[in-house]
Amino acid sequence: MNVVVLSGGVGGARFVRGVVDVLDASDVTVIGNVGDDVEVLGVHVSPDLDSILYALAGVNDEERGWGRAGETWHALDTVRELGGESWFALGDRDLGLHLVRTQALRAGRSLSDVTQELCAAFGVEARLLPATDDELRTWLDTPAGSFAFQEWFVARGHRDDVDAVRYVGADGARPVPDAVEALAAADLILVAPSNPYVSIGPILAVAGIRTALVDRSVPCVAISPLIGGRAVKGPADRMLARLAGGTRPVHVASCYSGLVDALVVDEADAQDLDDLPVRAIVTRTLMHDDAARRSLAEAALGAVAA
Ligand code: GDP
Ligand code: CA
Repeated sequence: MNVVVLSGGVGGARFVRGVVDVLDASDVTVIGNVGDDVEVLGVHVSPDLDSILYALAGVNDEERGWGRAGETWHALDTVRELGGESWFALGDRDLGLHLVRTQALRAGRSLSDVTQELCAAFGVEARLLPATDDELRTWLDTPAGSFAFQEWFVARGHRDDVDAVRYVGADGARPVPDAVEALAAADLILVAPSNPYVSIGPILAVAGIRTALVDRSVPCVAISPLIGGRAVKGPADRMLARLAGGTRPVHVASCYSGLVDALVVDEADAQDLDDLPVRAIVTRTLMHDDAARRSLAEAALGAVAA
């Protein structure tokens, strides 16, 4: 069974790990968000691709939810001592990867090629693809002004309410051809429990990817990132309340209108499904350990059999 997962960073990476544990990794293609990508200290950082890569390679820091296990911070300490740009946390191990990626990009390689090489070097068997090799950046319009994603999220701690989300560059962004091919060859498409606006939105903003979902002939199943109407972590609930008008399953589904056939929701939201326009799959969705990740993946994958 060929499965394609659209994924953001932390929530997405946890879920993708579950999918790969349940299926043959070589049958899984992950299409990752690049709207959060940022240049810091001269290096190109792809936080969501890296969260997925580290999770699949088993070198991720489970507790922190991002970055690598056993990380040290000497380089960043030095940057701080020197009065350099230190708002974005880059660990020493993490930095090594960014250096290799940045050098390859400067030499003219595409982000998708570089990502594939990094995956191979880490022994990751699943295929990880950025949605696009072109520059696509998420911007947030807030009452305090407009901010690039990482400035809003990290530097300002996502405290500003969001009035609108913009995907700058999306109009001209071409999908990575392998991503479109994988979607066409998929038996099932999954949308990870990631932030609909700032993780999945930038992927769907690439026209060729959205079209592939609209034209799908196989089921597409999204997993809600909310439990009992609350985000497990991050601003998804606040964004849904303000931009979609609420935090119930129907509001999550409204972000994927016409693109999904079923929504996996937590048992805590089971009594709130009356007006849901797609099939609900009710299960426990908190991915607190390997077993929970696997059983959530199995619930979503069961959509093909049903
Ligand atoms: P980011 O790119 O690092 O922000 O990561 P994602 O967008 O992929 O994931 C963030 C979302 O994951 C948040 O909205 C969380 O509510 C959701 N999330 C994190 N852990 C879990 C979990 O265990 N279960 C569910 N259902 N959602 C989760
Ligand atoms: Ca992200």
